[in-house]
Amino acid sequence: MKITAAVTRQTGGPFTLEQLDIEDPLPGEVRVRILATGICHTDMVMRDRLLPVPQPVVLGHEGAGIVEAVGAGVRKVKAGDAVVISFNTCGTCPACAGATPSYCREFFPRNFFGSRLDGSSGLSQDGTPIHGNIFGQSSFATHALAHERNVVKVQDDVPTALLGPLACGVMTGVGTVTNALKIRAGQSVVVLGAGTVGLSAIMAAKMVGAGRIIAIDPQPARRDMALSLGATDVIDPAGTDTVAAILALTQRVGVDYSIDTTARADVIRSGILMLAPMGECAVVGAIAHGQDIAVDGGHLLSGGRRLRGVVEGDADPETFIPWLVDLYRDGHLPFDRLVHFYSLAEINKAVEASERGQVIKPIILMPGTPMPTL
Ligand SMILES: [Zn+2]
Ligand SMILES: [Zn+2]
Repeated sequence: MKITAAVTRQTGGPFTLEQLDIEDPLPGEVRVRILATGICHTDMVMRDRLLPVPQPVVLGHEGAGIVEAVGAGVRKVKAGDAVVISFNTCGTCPACAGATPSYCREFFPRNFFGSRLDGSSGLSQDGTPIHGNIFGQSSFATHALAHERNVVKVQDDVPTALLGPLACGVMTGVGTVTNALKIRAGQSVVVLGAGTVGLSAIMAAKMVGAGRIIAIDPQPARRDMALSLGATDVIDPAGTDTVAAILALTQRVGVDYSIDTTARADVIRSGILMLAPMGECAVVGAIAHGQDIAVDGGHLLSGGRRLRGVVEGDADPETFIPWLVDLYRDGHLPFDRLVHFYSLAEINKAVEASERGQVIKPIILMPGTPMPTL
């Protein structure tokens, strides 16, 4: 069948709206009519080929919609189910078996290679294949081919069109706090960068009763948003020694945890220097392979400090996304405050607004999707 998709044909963009053909779902696949999809910073990283994603390609990995057709053998969902689409994994390797599928051995081939594992794509134009299957979905389109394993059923008492960001950005921020670092009541945390991931971490830190929650971001509007969502302190890094500022706020001890969402090596270095003894720094932003981080070795050793990477908040989407929906419904996770809606025709405008920092989380509404009432 014919679909409309935002295609990336050159490094750096733009996105062009084009008519493509989408295949019927193969065994284990699910075709989803996309209602809306979040735009995540990692889409820009893929557009700019800082991750080696082939082009032309349909990006998009925070899809939400309605199952339209399922391939042979699919039991988890049926036509008409509301779903959020997350990252794709194998389901059988040790990480998948251990409920930490974001460390799946096949994470890269199943999410970034732009094709099925056999090299085919479910998308084409006039018989020429167009790369798809990004994060097992490629949801910058009216329809997406996903997989039984990466669609997560959601209750429809909350507007489905709002929920795409739960599949990546919000899950990453919340999961880093609750799963990866397991921050407890009274502990302190610095969040470096107050975009969707950082602000979601702040909401989660507040929820678990963290004591001091400090946000560092150069943009006044994001610092204000951080304060309104639970940060106890904010710091403008421009012209500021942020390590000294954190030590001044913490009786020169430092903080229990730092969370880097910026993927900048100098910022990560500072995030380690801010740690109290036994503290832990989580690298969460999409830092490129080959990018070194300088670490003060004596500082790391002497306090027993830790540095680790965290992908998708150590979360298993199958259980975590429904929990996030519950948190939103109960008012603990007001991520709708970060969201601005755009039409598919406005996708380039949405990306520009996001890259200029004017919008925290753009969501693209597909043609015919009514504006969610929040
Ligand atoms: Zn796996
Ligand atoms: Zn993402």
